[in-house]
Amino acid sequence: MSLSICVLGSGSAGNCTVATLQSHQRRHLMIDAGLSPRATAARLEPLGLTIDDIGDILLTHLDRDHFHPGWARVVPTLGISVHLHLRHRDLAHHYGFPPAQLQPFRDGVDLGSGARAQGVLLPHDQMGSVGYVLEHDGVRLGLATDLGRDTGALDDHFRNLDALAIESNYDRTMLMASPRPPFLKRRIMGGLGHLSNDQSLAIAQRIAQRSSLSHIVLLHLSRQCNEPGIVRSLYARCAADLLDRLTISSQHTPSPILAVESGRRPQMVLFGEMQD
Ligand SMILES: [Zn+2]
Repeated sequence: MSLSICVLGSGSAGNCTVATLQSHQRRHLMIDAGLSPRATAARLEPLGLTIDDIGDILLTHLDRDHFHPGWARVVPTLGISVHLHLRHRDLAHHYGFPPAQLQPFRDGVDLGSGARAQGVLLPHDQMGSVGYVLEHDGVRLGLATDLGRDTGALDDHFRNLDALAIESNYDRTMLMASPRPPFLKRRIMGGLGHLSNDQSLAIAQRIAQRSSLSHIVLLHLSRQCNEPGIVRSLYARCAADLLDRLTISSQHTPSPILAVESGRRPQMVLFGEMQD
């Protein structure tokens, strides 16, 4: 029995994480499908997987970088179940998703074989996004991205986790100094956009106090307004005790396969090149 994850890519050009649940059989699901089916297939190949191996997709929301429209065509032919919050269902229909493949939920979804995903509504633009606690055989992964601001909503649900994946979108100084127009800066920082590195760290530290995290995976770093080196320095300065379990995801290069183990120290199964 085990749970492992690999962030195939994360950033404004596409987000997708593969989770592998191992019990009497292996199952693979994706959290978000923001890379095209072709790009996803190319990044699955080194893992020995194809998109035919994906049984379920959990969507955080339907922004283009989390849901590539190419999946609306692929999902019916492969028989993939797409799980999303009820509030996103109509938009998914509008984007051409076949209703038969959609499995809308209000609180969470039973994935079978002892696996469950609990949804947590988070502020992000008009429609909001959904964070997930994916639990398999007592091992718990929390994943949240595009969460606008720290409302404390995660505190109730992201407890006793064994791994945390959370966005760490921008460095405030870099964003302020960037040539981005004022309306865009307001959208990102105004509470319905993304988390800064500092906000993300504050949440990660609170969750770490109530968990035994084997991994902290940072998602959705802005290419223009963030750098992995800045994030690492922040952790070294303010959360040195968490540095040994930190993985910073990349837009272009899949993360290592991270084995999520109950209450264990970090383990990496396979090493990949990390760059932004
Ligand atoms: Zn996004």
